Amino acid sequence: MMNVREYGNWINGAWLKASAMVERTSPANGVLLARFADSGEEEVDLAVKAARRAFDDRSIWSALPGGERAKAIGRWIELLVRDIDKLAKMEAEEVGKPIRFGKGETEWSIELARYAAALAWQIPSDLVNNAGDANLGMVVREPRGVIGMITPWNFPLVTLFQKLPFALAAGCTVVIKPSELTSSTTLEIAALAKEAGIPDGVINVVTGSGKAVGEALTGHHGVDMISFTGSTAVGKHIAARAAEQMKRVGLELGGKAANVVFADADIDAALDGVLLGYILNQGEECVQGTRLLIEESIANEFVAKLVERSKKIRIGLPEDPEADLGALIHEQHMEKVLSYIQSGLKEGAKLEIGGKRLTDSEFGKGFYVGPTIFSNVTPNMTIFREEIFGPVLAVTTFRTVAEAIELANDTNYGLGNGLWTKDIDKAIQVSRELKSGTVSVNTFLETVVQMPFGGYKESGIGRENGMDGLLEFTEVKSIFIKLGKRPHTLPHTVN
Ligand code: NAD
Repeated sequence: MMNVREYGNWINGAWLKASAMVERTSPANGVLLARFADSGEEEVDLAVKAARRAFDDRSIWSALPGGERAKAIGRWIELLVRDIDKLAKMEAEEVGKPIRFGKGETEWSIELARYAAALAWQIPSDLVNNAGDANLGMVVREPRGVIGMITPWNFPLVTLFQKLPFALAAGCTVVIKPSELTSSTTLEIAALAKEAGIPDGVINVVTGSGKAVGEALTGHHGVDMISFTGSTAVGKHIAARAAEQMKRVGLELGGKAANVVFADADIDAALDGVLLGYILNQGEECVQGTRLLIEESIANEFVAKLVERSKKIRIGLPEDPEADLGALIHEQHMEKVLSYIQSGLKEGAKLEIGGKRLTDSEFGKGFYVGPTIFSNVTPNMTIFREEIFGPVLAVTTFRTVAEAIELANDTNYGLGNGLWTKDIDKAIQVSRELKSGTVSVNTFLETVVQMPFGGYKESGIGRENGMDGLLEFTEVKSIFIKLGKRPHTLPHTVN
Protein backbone atom coordinates (compact mmCIF):
# COMPACT_ATOMS: atom_id res chain seq x y z
CA MET A 1 0.00 0.00 0.00
CA MET A 2 1.44 3.32 -1.04
CA ASN A 3 1.47 6.38 1.16
CA VAL A 4 -0.77 9.02 -0.35
CA ARG A 5 0.81 12.48 -0.14
CA GLU A 6 -1.45 15.28 1.03
CA TYR A 7 -0.63 18.97 0.88
CA GLY A 8 -2.13 22.32 1.71
CA ASN A 9 -0.91 25.52 0.12
CA TRP A 10 2.48 26.94 1.09
CA ILE A 11 1.94 30.56 2.08
CA ASN A 12 4.24 32.84 4.06
CA GLY A 13 6.43 29.96 5.20
CA ALA A 14 3.66 27.70 6.51
CA TRP A 15 1.18 25.08 5.31
CA LEU A 16 -2.33 26.38 4.97
CA LYS A 17 -5.00 23.66 5.06
CA ALA A 18 -7.49 23.63 2.23
CA SER A 19 -11.22 22.99 2.36
CA ALA A 20 -11.31 21.28 -1.05
CA MET A 21 -8.79 18.88 -2.56
CA VAL A 22 -8.00 17.43 -5.98
CA GLU A 23 -6.58 13.95 -6.43
CA ARG A 24 -3.72 12.85 -8.64
CA THR A 25 -3.61 9.21 -9.70
CA SER A 26 -0.69 7.58 -11.47
CA PRO A 27 -0.90 7.79 -15.27
CA ALA A 28 1.07 4.53 -15.36
CA ASN A 29 -1.21 2.31 -13.25
CA GLY A 30 -4.07 4.33 -11.77
CA VAL A 31 -2.87 4.22 -8.13
CA LEU A 32 -3.75 7.27 -6.00
CA LEU A 33 -0.57 9.29 -5.47
CA ALA A 34 -1.45 12.64 -3.93
CA ARG A 35 -4.08 15.15 -2.89
CA PHE A 36 -3.52 18.85 -3.54
CA ALA A 37 -5.41 21.91 -2.36
CA ASP A 38 -8.05 22.96 -4.86
CA SER A 39 -7.65 26.69 -4.34
CA GLY A 40 -9.14 29.89 -5.69
CA GLU A 41 -9.01 33.68 -5.47
CA GLU A 42 -8.87 33.84 -1.67
CA GLU A 43 -5.72 31.71 -1.37
CA VAL A 44 -4.08 33.54 -4.27
CA ASP A 45 -4.75 36.84 -2.53
CA LEU A 46 -3.16 35.61 0.72
CA ALA A 47 -0.11 34.36 -1.15
CA VAL A 48 0.31 37.56 -3.17
CA LYS A 49 0.04 39.65 0.01
CA ALA A 50 2.77 37.52 1.64
CA ALA A 51 5.01 37.87 -1.43
CA ARG A 52 4.29 41.60 -1.61
CA ARG A 53 5.28 42.11 2.05
CA ALA A 54 8.46 40.10 1.58
CA PHE A 55 9.33 42.21 -1.46
CA ASP A 56 8.31 45.67 -0.28
CA ASP A 57 10.13 45.43 3.05
CA ARG A 58 13.56 45.87 1.52
CA SER A 59 15.31 44.41 4.56
CA ILE A 60 13.81 40.93 3.98
CA TRP A 61 15.06 39.93 0.53
CA SER A 62 14.82 42.38 -2.38
CA ALA A 63 17.57 44.78 -1.24
CA LEU A 64 19.90 42.32 0.49
CA PRO A 65 23.44 42.27 -0.88
CA GLY A 66 23.43 39.90 -3.87
CA GLY A 67 25.98 37.71 -2.10
CA GLU A 68 23.57 37.17 0.82
CA ARG A 69 20.89 35.97 -1.57
CA ALA A 70 23.47 33.76 -3.31
CA LYS A 71 24.42 32.16 0.01
CA ALA A 72 20.78 31.52 0.96
CA ILE A 73 20.14 29.90 -2.43
CA GLY A 74 23.33 27.89 -1.89
CA ARG A 75 22.01 26.48 1.40
CA TRP A 76 18.76 25.60 -0.36
CA ILE A 77 20.72 23.76 -3.08
CA GLU A 78 22.39 21.60 -0.41
CA LEU A 79 18.93 20.48 0.75
CA LEU A 80 17.79 19.83 -2.81
CA VAL A 81 20.85 17.59 -3.23
CA ARG A 82 20.07 15.84 0.06
CA ASP A 83 16.50 15.11 -1.09
CA ILE A 84 17.27 14.40 -4.72
CA ASP A 85 16.02 10.78 -4.74
CA LYS A 86 12.74 11.68 -3.06
CA LEU A 87 12.12 14.54 -5.51
CA ALA A 88 13.06 12.40 -8.52
CA LYS A 89 10.66 9.65 -7.43
CA MET A 90 7.74 12.07 -7.02
CA GLU A 91 8.49 13.62 -10.39
CA ALA A 92 8.57 10.22 -12.10
CA GLU A 93 5.37 9.01 -10.40
CA GLU A 94 3.25 12.08 -11.13
CA VAL A 95 4.41 12.66 -14.70
CA GLY A 96 4.60 8.94 -15.57
CA LYS A 97 8.20 9.21 -16.75
CA PRO A 98 10.92 6.63 -16.03
CA ILE A 99 12.80 7.24 -12.78
CA ARG A 100 16.19 7.84 -14.43
CA PHE A 101 14.70 10.79 -16.30
CA GLY A 102 13.09 12.04 -13.08
CA LYS A 103 16.59 11.93 -11.56
CA GLY A 104 18.16 13.64 -14.57
CA GLU A 105 15.53 16.36 -14.44
CA THR A 106 16.16 16.99 -10.74
CA GLU A 107 19.93 17.13 -11.28
CA TRP A 108 19.52 19.61 -14.12
CA SER A 109 17.23 21.76 -11.97
CA ILE A 110 19.91 21.89 -9.27
CA GLU A 111 22.50 22.83 -11.90
CA LEU A 112 20.29 25.74 -12.98
CA ALA A 113 19.99 26.88 -9.35
CA ARG A 114 23.78 26.73 -8.88
CA TYR A 115 24.32 28.93 -11.89
CA ALA A 116 21.56 31.39 -10.95
CA ALA A 117 22.94 31.70 -7.40
CA ALA A 118 26.31 32.69 -8.81
CA LEU A 119 24.68 35.41 -10.93
CA ALA A 120 23.27 37.03 -7.78
CA TRP A 121 26.80 38.18 -6.91
CA GLN A 122 27.11 40.24 -10.04
CA ILE A 123 23.93 41.66 -11.50
CA PRO A 124 25.16 44.06 -14.21
CA SER A 125 24.83 47.81 -14.08
CA ASP A 126 26.35 50.63 -16.17
CA LEU A 127 27.88 53.95 -15.41
CA VAL A 128 27.68 56.85 -17.88
CA ASN A 129 30.84 58.70 -17.00
CA ASN A 130 31.43 60.70 -20.20
CA ALA A 131 28.47 63.11 -20.15
CA GLY A 132 30.49 66.11 -18.98
CA ASP A 133 32.02 66.99 -15.61
CA ALA A 134 28.66 68.12 -14.17
CA ASN A 135 26.83 64.93 -15.00
CA LEU A 136 26.87 61.31 -13.98
CA GLY A 137 24.52 58.58 -15.16
CA MET A 138 23.87 55.30 -13.40
CA VAL A 139 21.91 52.58 -15.19
CA VAL A 140 20.88 50.12 -12.53
CA ARG A 141 18.94 46.89 -12.56
CA GLU A 142 16.31 46.44 -9.88
CA PRO A 143 14.30 43.31 -9.08
CA ARG A 144 11.03 43.42 -10.96
CA GLY A 145 8.83 42.69 -7.97
CA VAL A 146 6.34 39.93 -7.19
CA ILE A 147 6.42 37.28 -9.92
CA GLY A 148 3.51 34.93 -10.59
CA MET A 149 4.92 31.69 -11.98
CA ILE A 150 2.64 29.26 -13.79
CA THR A 151 4.17 25.93 -14.83
CA PRO A 152 3.15 22.85 -16.85
CA TRP A 153 3.17 19.14 -16.06
CA ASN A 154 5.75 17.73 -18.46
CA PHE A 155 8.90 18.89 -16.60
CA PRO A 156 7.48 20.28 -13.34
CA LEU A 157 10.89 20.92 -11.78
CA VAL A 158 12.92 22.05 -14.78
CA THR A 159 10.29 24.46 -16.06
CA LEU A 160 10.14 25.93 -12.55
CA PHE A 161 13.93 26.08 -12.11
CA GLN A 162 14.37 27.92 -15.39
CA LYS A 163 12.52 30.71 -13.56
CA LEU A 164 12.62 30.45 -9.78
CA PRO A 165 16.33 30.62 -8.86
CA PHE A 166 16.87 33.37 -11.44
CA ALA A 167 14.02 35.44 -10.01
CA LEU A 168 15.29 34.83 -6.46
CA ALA A 169 18.83 35.80 -7.46
CA ALA A 170 17.50 39.05 -8.93
CA GLY A 171 15.72 39.82 -5.63
CA CYS A 172 12.12 39.04 -6.60
CA THR A 173 9.57 37.20 -4.50
CA VAL A 174 7.17 34.68 -6.04
CA VAL A 175 3.80 32.98 -6.04
CA ILE A 176 3.92 29.70 -7.94
CA LYS A 177 0.98 27.87 -9.46
CA PRO A 178 2.19 24.43 -10.56
CA SER A 179 0.17 22.13 -12.78
CA GLU A 180 -2.69 20.58 -10.83
CA LEU A 181 -1.44 17.17 -12.05
CA THR A 182 2.14 17.40 -10.77
CA SER A 183 2.31 19.76 -7.78
CA SER A 184 4.28 17.68 -5.22
CA THR A 185 7.84 18.63 -6.10
CA THR A 186 7.02 22.35 -6.27
CA LEU A 187 5.50 22.22 -2.78
CA GLU A 188 8.43 20.20 -1.44
CA ILE A 189 11.10 22.56 -2.75
CA ALA A 190 9.24 25.56 -1.31
CA ALA A 191 9.28 23.99 2.17
CA LEU A 192 13.00 23.20 1.73
CA ALA A 193 13.64 26.89 1.05
CA LYS A 194 12.38 27.70 4.55
CA GLU A 195 14.65 25.03 6.01
CA ALA A 196 17.53 26.74 4.17
CA GLY A 197 16.71 30.08 5.78
CA ILE A 198 15.11 31.80 2.78
CA PRO A 199 12.70 34.21 4.51
CA ASP A 200 8.98 33.52 4.82
CA GLY A 201 6.91 35.00 2.02
CA VAL A 202 9.71 34.90 -0.57
CA ILE A 203 8.39 31.65 -2.09
CA ASN A 204 4.66 30.84 -1.96
CA VAL A 205 2.80 28.03 -3.72
CA VAL A 206 -0.93 27.90 -4.46
CA THR A 207 -2.24 24.75 -6.12
CA GLY A 208 -5.39 24.22 -8.16
CA SER A 209 -6.74 24.67 -11.64
CA GLY A 210 -5.69 27.14 -14.30
CA LYS A 211 -9.22 28.52 -14.45
CA ALA A 212 -9.35 29.36 -10.74
CA VAL A 213 -5.77 29.86 -9.51
CA GLY A 214 -4.06 30.77 -12.80
CA GLU A 215 -6.70 33.35 -13.70
CA ALA A 216 -6.66 34.88 -10.21
CA LEU A 217 -2.87 35.18 -10.27
CA THR A 218 -2.80 36.75 -13.74
CA GLY A 219 -5.45 39.28 -12.76
CA HIS A 220 -4.07 40.20 -9.32
CA HIS A 221 -2.92 43.83 -9.05
CA GLY A 222 -0.23 42.86 -6.54
CA VAL A 223 1.64 40.78 -9.14
CA ASP A 224 4.20 42.64 -11.29
CA MET A 225 4.97 39.93 -13.83
CA ILE A 226 3.64 36.58 -14.99
CA SER A 227 6.28 34.07 -15.98
CA PHE A 228 4.41 31.29 -17.75
CA THR A 229 5.42 27.98 -19.28
CA GLY A 230 2.73 26.03 -21.09
CA SER A 231 0.71 25.85 -24.27
CA THR A 232 0.64 28.62 -26.85
CA ALA A 233 -3.16 28.89 -26.53
CA VAL A 234 -3.04 29.59 -22.78
CA GLY A 235 0.05 31.79 -23.25
CA LYS A 236 -1.84 34.04 -25.68
CA HIS A 237 -4.74 34.29 -23.26
CA ILE A 238 -2.41 35.21 -20.37
CA ALA A 239 -0.61 37.84 -22.48
CA ALA A 240 -3.94 39.46 -23.40
CA ARG A 241 -5.10 39.54 -19.77
CA ALA A 242 -1.75 40.79 -18.48
CA ALA A 243 -1.87 43.63 -21.02
CA GLU A 244 -4.91 45.08 -19.23
CA GLN A 245 -2.60 46.00 -16.34
CA MET A 246 0.55 46.34 -18.50
CA LYS A 247 1.90 43.48 -16.42
CA ARG A 248 5.22 42.11 -17.71
CA VAL A 249 5.11 38.62 -19.18
CA GLY A 250 7.65 35.92 -19.87
CA LEU A 251 6.18 33.18 -22.05
CA GLU A 252 7.72 29.77 -22.77
CA LEU A 253 5.27 28.08 -25.11
CA GLY A 254 4.86 25.21 -27.54
CA GLY A 255 7.17 23.98 -30.27
CA LYS A 256 7.43 21.90 -33.43
CA ALA A 257 11.17 21.34 -33.73
CA ALA A 258 12.80 19.66 -36.71
CA ASN A 259 15.93 17.56 -36.81
CA VAL A 260 17.49 18.29 -40.20
CA VAL A 261 19.76 15.43 -41.30
CA PHE A 262 22.06 15.97 -44.29
CA ALA A 263 23.57 13.09 -46.24
CA ASP A 264 27.07 14.01 -45.05
CA ALA A 265 26.15 13.63 -41.34
CA ASP A 266 27.61 11.10 -38.92
CA ILE A 267 24.65 8.79 -39.46
CA ASP A 268 25.05 6.80 -36.27
CA ALA A 269 25.11 9.93 -34.11
CA ALA A 270 22.16 11.39 -36.03
CA LEU A 271 20.15 8.20 -35.46
CA ASP A 272 20.78 8.46 -31.71
CA GLY A 273 19.84 12.15 -31.67
CA VAL A 274 16.68 11.74 -33.72
CA LEU A 275 15.57 8.75 -31.61
CA LEU A 276 16.11 10.54 -28.30
CA GLY A 277 14.59 13.68 -29.79
CA TYR A 278 11.22 12.10 -30.46
CA ILE A 279 10.85 9.68 -27.55
CA LEU A 280 12.35 11.58 -24.59
CA ASN A 281 9.71 12.27 -21.95
CA GLN A 282 7.24 10.25 -24.09
CA GLY A 283 7.44 13.11 -26.60
CA GLU A 284 5.83 15.41 -24.05
CA GLU A 285 8.52 17.96 -24.57
CA CYS A 286 8.38 21.51 -25.91
CA VAL A 287 11.60 21.08 -27.91
CA GLN A 288 10.73 17.54 -28.97
CA GLY A 289 12.29 16.71 -32.36
CA THR A 290 8.90 15.76 -33.70
CA ARG A 291 9.80 16.37 -37.35
CA LEU A 292 12.64 14.62 -39.17
CA LEU A 293 13.73 16.42 -42.32
CA ILE A 294 16.04 14.07 -44.15
CA GLU A 295 18.03 14.37 -47.37
CA GLU A 296 16.29 12.21 -49.95
CA SER A 297 19.38 10.20 -50.95
CA ILE A 298 19.69 8.61 -47.47
CA ALA A 299 16.04 8.70 -46.39
CA ASN A 300 15.02 5.06 -46.90
CA GLU A 301 18.08 3.58 -45.23
CA PHE A 302 17.93 6.07 -42.33
CA VAL A 303 14.26 5.46 -41.61
CA ALA A 304 14.74 1.67 -41.75
CA LYS A 305 17.53 1.93 -39.15
CA LEU A 306 15.47 4.30 -37.00
CA VAL A 307 12.57 1.85 -37.01
CA GLU A 308 14.93 -0.94 -35.87
CA ARG A 309 16.24 1.24 -33.02
CA SER A 310 12.71 2.30 -32.07
CA LYS A 311 11.74 -1.37 -31.67
CA LYS A 312 14.40 -1.69 -28.96
CA ILE A 313 13.00 1.14 -26.84
CA ARG A 314 12.17 -0.19 -23.41
CA ILE A 315 8.73 0.86 -22.28
CA GLY A 316 8.22 0.74 -18.52
CA LEU A 317 6.62 1.78 -15.29
CA PRO A 318 8.11 4.87 -13.59
CA GLU A 319 10.08 2.75 -11.11
CA ASP A 320 11.71 0.59 -13.83
CA PRO A 321 15.37 1.72 -13.73
CA GLU A 322 16.01 0.63 -17.32
CA ALA A 323 12.91 2.14 -18.96
CA ASP A 324 13.28 4.60 -21.83
CA LEU A 325 9.63 5.53 -22.30
CA GLY A 326 6.79 5.94 -19.80
CA ALA A 327 3.09 6.77 -19.73
CA LEU A 328 1.37 9.82 -21.18
CA ILE A 329 0.07 12.30 -18.63
CA HIS A 330 -3.66 11.42 -18.66
CA GLU A 331 -6.34 9.68 -20.64
CA GLN A 332 -7.63 12.69 -22.61
CA HIS A 333 -4.10 13.56 -23.62
CA MET A 334 -3.52 9.99 -24.79
CA GLU A 335 -6.75 10.18 -26.83
CA LYS A 336 -5.52 13.41 -28.38
CA VAL A 337 -2.20 11.80 -29.37
CA LEU A 338 -4.08 8.83 -30.85
CA SER A 339 -6.33 11.17 -32.81
CA TYR A 340 -3.24 12.84 -34.32
CA ILE A 341 -2.07 9.38 -35.33
CA GLN A 342 -5.46 8.78 -37.00
CA SER A 343 -5.14 12.08 -38.85
CA GLY A 344 -1.71 10.99 -40.14
CA LEU A 345 -3.23 7.80 -41.52
CA LYS A 346 -6.23 9.61 -43.04
CA GLU A 347 -4.13 12.30 -44.66
CA GLY A 348 -1.93 9.73 -46.42
CA ALA A 349 1.26 9.43 -44.35
CA LYS A 350 2.87 5.96 -44.17
CA LEU A 351 2.96 4.37 -40.72
CA GLU A 352 6.37 2.72 -40.25
CA ILE A 353 6.01 1.58 -36.62
CA GLY A 354 3.69 1.96 -33.62
CA GLY A 355 0.50 3.98 -33.82
CA LYS A 356 -1.31 2.20 -31.01
CA ARG A 357 -2.12 2.31 -27.35
CA LEU A 358 -0.40 -0.49 -25.42
CA THR A 359 -2.95 -2.66 -23.69
CA ASP A 360 -1.08 -5.75 -22.49
CA SER A 361 -1.27 -6.63 -18.80
CA GLU A 362 1.50 -4.42 -17.43
CA PHE A 363 0.52 -1.32 -19.37
CA GLY A 364 -3.23 -1.80 -19.72
CA LYS A 365 -4.00 0.27 -16.61
CA GLY A 366 -1.91 3.17 -17.86
CA PHE A 367 -1.85 5.57 -20.80
CA TYR A 368 0.92 4.13 -22.93
CA VAL A 369 1.52 4.78 -26.62
CA GLY A 370 4.54 3.13 -28.27
CA PRO A 371 7.15 4.88 -30.47
CA THR A 372 5.42 5.88 -33.70
CA ILE A 373 7.02 6.93 -36.99
CA PHE A 374 5.27 8.27 -40.09
CA SER A 375 7.12 8.67 -43.39
CA ASN A 376 5.88 10.42 -46.58
CA VAL A 377 4.72 13.37 -44.49
CA THR A 378 4.03 16.60 -46.39
CA PRO A 379 3.85 20.13 -44.94
CA ASN A 380 0.08 20.39 -45.38
CA MET A 381 -0.56 17.42 -43.04
CA THR A 382 -1.78 18.04 -39.50
CA ILE A 383 1.04 15.94 -38.00
CA PHE A 384 3.59 18.24 -39.69
CA ARG A 385 1.93 21.39 -38.39
CA GLU A 386 0.50 20.82 -34.90
CA GLU A 387 2.16 20.05 -31.60
CA ILE A 388 1.31 16.38 -30.89
CA PHE A 389 3.11 16.03 -27.55
CA GLY A 390 3.49 12.26 -27.82
CA PRO A 391 6.16 9.84 -29.11
CA VAL A 392 5.30 10.49 -32.76
CA LEU A 393 7.81 11.38 -35.49
CA ALA A 394 6.86 12.88 -38.88
CA VAL A 395 9.44 12.25 -41.63
CA THR A 396 9.72 14.54 -44.67
CA THR A 397 12.45 14.48 -47.33
CA PHE A 398 14.33 17.34 -48.99
CA ARG A 399 16.83 17.67 -51.85
CA THR A 400 18.62 20.98 -51.30
CA VAL A 401 19.85 23.05 -48.37
CA ALA A 402 17.37 25.80 -49.27
CA GLU A 403 14.49 23.33 -49.26
CA ALA A 404 15.58 21.98 -45.85
CA ILE A 405 15.60 25.49 -44.35
CA GLU A 406 12.23 26.33 -45.88
CA LEU A 407 10.65 23.15 -44.49
CA ALA A 408 12.17 23.65 -41.02
CA ASN A 409 10.85 27.22 -40.88
CA ASP A 410 7.42 26.29 -42.24
CA THR A 411 5.74 26.40 -38.82
CA ASN A 412 4.17 28.97 -36.50
CA TYR A 413 6.51 27.78 -33.76
CA GLY A 414 10.19 28.62 -33.26
CA LEU A 415 11.53 27.06 -30.10
CA GLY A 416 14.29 24.71 -31.24
CA ASN A 417 15.77 22.82 -34.18
CA GLY A 418 18.62 20.37 -34.69
CA LEU A 419 20.90 19.85 -37.65
CA TRP A 420 23.34 17.13 -38.54
CA THR A 421 26.23 17.59 -40.98
CA LYS A 422 30.03 17.32 -40.99
CA ASP A 423 30.29 20.43 -43.20
CA ILE A 424 31.00 23.39 -40.87
CA ASP A 425 30.05 26.00 -43.47
CA LYS A 426 26.70 24.35 -44.03
CA ALA A 427 26.15 24.02 -40.27
CA ILE A 428 26.70 27.72 -39.69
CA GLN A 429 24.70 28.86 -42.72
CA VAL A 430 21.71 26.73 -41.76
CA SER A 431 21.97 27.70 -38.05
CA ARG A 432 21.77 31.34 -39.06
CA GLU A 433 18.71 30.83 -41.22
CA LEU A 434 16.66 28.69 -38.83
CA LYS A 435 14.01 30.77 -37.07
CA SER A 436 14.21 29.31 -33.59
CA GLY A 437 15.59 30.34 -30.22
CA THR A 438 17.79 27.26 -30.04
CA VAL A 439 19.74 25.41 -32.74
CA SER A 440 21.59 22.19 -31.88
CA VAL A 441 24.38 21.11 -34.23
CA ASN A 442 25.33 17.43 -34.25
CA THR A 443 23.49 16.91 -30.99
CA PHE A 444 19.94 17.35 -29.75
CA LEU A 445 18.30 18.28 -26.41
CA GLU A 446 21.69 19.16 -25.03
CA THR A 447 22.69 22.56 -23.69
CA VAL A 448 24.46 24.31 -20.83
CA VAL A 449 22.91 26.51 -18.15
CA GLN A 450 24.76 29.60 -19.38
CA MET A 451 22.84 29.60 -22.66
CA PRO A 452 19.48 31.35 -22.94
CA PHE A 453 16.41 29.35 -23.88
CA GLY A 454 13.20 30.61 -25.45
CA GLY A 455 11.17 30.96 -28.57
CA TYR A 456 10.81 32.85 -31.82
CA LYS A 457 7.32 33.36 -33.27
CA GLU A 458 4.47 31.66 -31.35
CA SER A 459 6.90 29.78 -29.09
CA GLY A 460 7.10 32.67 -26.68
CA ILE A 461 8.35 36.00 -25.45
CA GLY A 462 11.58 36.50 -23.52
CA ARG A 463 14.35 34.12 -22.51
CA GLU A 464 15.12 31.84 -19.60
CA ASN A 465 18.55 30.63 -18.38
CA GLY A 466 21.82 32.41 -18.94
CA MET A 467 22.28 36.03 -17.90
CA ASP A 468 19.36 36.93 -20.22
CA GLY A 469 17.13 34.74 -18.05
CA LEU A 470 18.05 36.66 -14.93
CA LEU A 471 17.64 40.06 -16.61
CA GLU A 472 14.01 39.20 -17.45
CA PHE A 473 13.34 39.49 -13.72
CA THR A 474 14.74 43.02 -13.49
CA GLU A 475 13.63 46.54 -14.38
CA VAL A 476 16.10 49.09 -15.70
CA LYS A 477 16.36 52.41 -13.91
CA SER A 478 18.38 55.39 -15.18
CA ILE A 479 19.59 57.65 -12.37
CA PHE A 480 20.91 60.93 -13.72
CA ILE A 481 22.93 62.96 -11.22
CA LYS A 482 23.76 66.66 -11.45
CA LEU A 483 27.08 67.25 -9.76
CA GLY A 484 28.24 70.50 -8.13
CA LYS A 485 30.20 71.66 -11.20
CA ARG A 486 28.57 74.03 -13.72
CA PRO A 487 27.76 72.36 -17.04
CA HIS A 488 29.81 73.31 -20.12
CA THR A 489 26.69 72.96 -22.31
CA LEU A 490 22.95 72.92 -21.71
CA PRO A 491 21.85 69.42 -20.75
CA HIS A 492 19.08 67.65 -22.65
CA THR A 493 15.82 67.57 -20.77
CA VAL A 494 13.75 64.47 -20.20
CA ASN A 495 10.57 64.35 -22.32
P1 NAD B 1 -1.23 24.35 -20.34
O1 NAD B 1 -1.06 25.61 -21.09
O2 NAD B 1 -2.49 23.61 -20.48
O3 NAD B 1 -1.04 24.59 -18.78
C1 NAD B 1 0.12 25.19 -18.25
C2 NAD B 1 -0.21 25.79 -16.90
O4 NAD B 1 -1.15 26.85 -17.09
C3 NAD B 1 -0.87 24.83 -15.91
O5 NAD B 1 -0.41 25.10 -14.62
C4 NAD B 1 -2.35 25.19 -16.04
O6 NAD B 1 -3.11 24.86 -14.91
C5 NAD B 1 -2.26 26.69 -16.24
N1 NAD B 1 -3.44 27.31 -16.88
C6 NAD B 1 -4.37 26.73 -17.66
N2 NAD B 1 -5.31 27.63 -18.04
C7 NAD B 1 -4.95 28.82 -17.48
C8 NAD B 1 -5.50 30.12 -17.50
N3 NAD B 1 -6.62 30.39 -18.15
N4 NAD B 1 -4.87 31.11 -16.82
C9 NAD B 1 -3.72 30.86 -16.16
N5 NAD B 1 -3.15 29.62 -16.10
C10 NAD B 1 -3.76 28.62 -16.75
O7 NAD B 1 0.03 23.45 -20.73
P2 NAD B 1 0.34 21.96 -20.26
O8 NAD B 1 -0.59 21.05 -20.98
O9 NAD B 1 0.44 21.89 -18.78
O10 NAD B 1 1.83 21.78 -20.83
C11 NAD B 1 2.12 21.44 -22.12
C12 NAD B 1 2.48 22.66 -22.95
O11 NAD B 1 3.56 23.35 -22.34
C13 NAD B 1 2.97 22.31 -24.35
O12 NAD B 1 2.40 23.17 -25.28
C14 NAD B 1 4.48 22.53 -24.25
O13 NAD B 1 5.11 22.78 -25.48
C15 NAD B 1 4.55 23.67 -23.32
N6 NAD B 1 5.88 23.75 -22.70
C16 NAD B 1 6.73 24.74 -23.08
C17 NAD B 1 8.01 24.80 -22.53
C18 NAD B 1 8.98 25.87 -22.92
O14 NAD B 1 9.94 26.07 -22.19
N7 NAD B 1 8.77 26.59 -24.00
C19 NAD B 1 8.41 23.84 -21.60
C20 NAD B 1 7.52 22.84 -21.23
C21 NAD B 1 6.24 22.81 -21.78
